[in-house]
Amino acid sequence: MQKRDVVIIGSGPAGLTAAIYTARASLKPLLIDAPADAAQQTTPGGQLMITTDVENYPGFSDGIQGPELMAEFRKQAERFGTEFMEGWITEVDLSERPFQIYVDGGPTISAETLIIATGASAKWLGIPGEAKVPAGFGGNGVSACATCDGPLPAFRNRTLVVVGGGDTAMEEATFLTRYAAKVYVVHRRDKLRASKIMQDKAFRNEKIEFIWNTAVQEIVGTPEEGVTGVRLRNLVNGEEQIFPCAGVFVAIGHRPNTDLFRGQLDMDEVGYLQTSGHSTATNIPGVFACGDVQDSVYRQAVTAAGSGCMSALDAERYLDHLPVEMPSGEEITIEGEHITADRHAIITADGHMIPNDTEVPSDTEVSVGED
Ligand SMILES: Cc1cc2nc3c(=O)[nH]c(=O)nc-3n(C[C@H](O)[C@H](O)[C@H](O)COP(=O)(O)OP(=O)(O)OC[C@H]3O[C@@H](n4cnc5c(N)ncnc54)[C@H](O)[C@@H]3O)c2cc1C
Repeated sequence: MQKRDVVIIGSGPAGLTAAIYTARASLKPLLIDAPADAAQQTTPGGQLMITTDVENYPGFSDGIQGPELMAEFRKQAERFGTEFMEGWITEVDLSERPFQIYVDGGPTISAETLIIATGASAKWLGIPGEAKVPAGFGGNGVSACATCDGPLPAFRNRTLVVVGGGDTAMEEATFLTRYAAKVYVVHRRDKLRASKIMQDKAFRNEKIEFIWNTAVQEIVGTPEEGVTGVRLRNLVNGEEQIFPCAGVFVAIGHRPNTDLFRGQLDMDEVGYLQTSGHSTATNIPGVFACGDVQDSVYRQAVTAAGSGCMSALDAERYLDHLPVEMPSGEEITIEGEHITADRHAIITADGHMIPNDTEVPSDTEVSVGED
């Protein structure tokens, strides 16, 4: 059994940023991440390992390759003493502190605080041509993130295909019209699942056209050119055609990697972990969540890294016996003291309620601007 003050799960931008901060705070974090596994689409370093150019991460004016960026994150975390372990976490017991973390084929880890940075996975169609280069065209014309890849030169003034019929697909298609010559939304049914406002926006956009009752069967292309088209099948009459395009954006949703925490941590209906508005605390004191696993809205490397920093500061604060704000609005310390959401009372660990008198006596000098 290994005992740790801080355990981090996940080595994407969120987990590695949490590692940099907690390591610099001398908390000797242990970061555990799943091994490279083609079937499960995991690689240490997270989602950016399966992309090429990252043009929007601040600090790299010429852009940087995803794997190169993550190697730099990792080196920085190592420099301050982060310890790394490779393995799938198969179970966690968060019922009491220290928390128990079970690593597949590895030791059980006992943790005073846990930072969850397990990310989210884009849902894929599972069709030929979709896998990552060199098996398919993933990263060379196939993407699941328009914000990330839409502005790349390969897609500018070209014909693109977006697959899906929900809000994500409408958002991706609308965004891509800033760069593409034409965007075709391919949808399996004859109507959309997207909200009315998103549908109306897409219908009004002259650059967007819809191909109804149709499934993408295959993504075709060449290693030199990347994607050159998609094989479409009309689901009403069974007819097939090769439809020429320069890029395919799969927009059928994301799945947060949270099965492990089901029944223990509060989640929304899709499975994203719920955190406090002002901190990254989950409903269990001492468990923090950062990055895509708790963010269904922004899902960017820079926002993941930002919330990784927040988780690290929250964990440090908690280990320093300082109160951390919970999703309920209460603040809780490591000793189990609760400060009520209205901040008027403190409930001690043994159940006593004492007033939380925060009024400053009139004869106390307050220096303005001091933190
Ligand atoms: C193709 C593609 C291109 C992108 N391009 C850009 C871009 O240009 N710019 C940008 O800002 N964003 C981009 N993004 C989005 C960006 O990659 C994500 O927002 C970011 O990686 C989220 O970071 P994270 O740390 O939250 O999680 P992730 O990067 O998803 O990392 C999570 C890690 O947790 C591990 N893990 C999950 N479950 C377990 C478990 N049970 N046990 C052990 N380990 C586990 C996973 O293996 C993974 O390594 C792109 C995404 C994709 C898919």
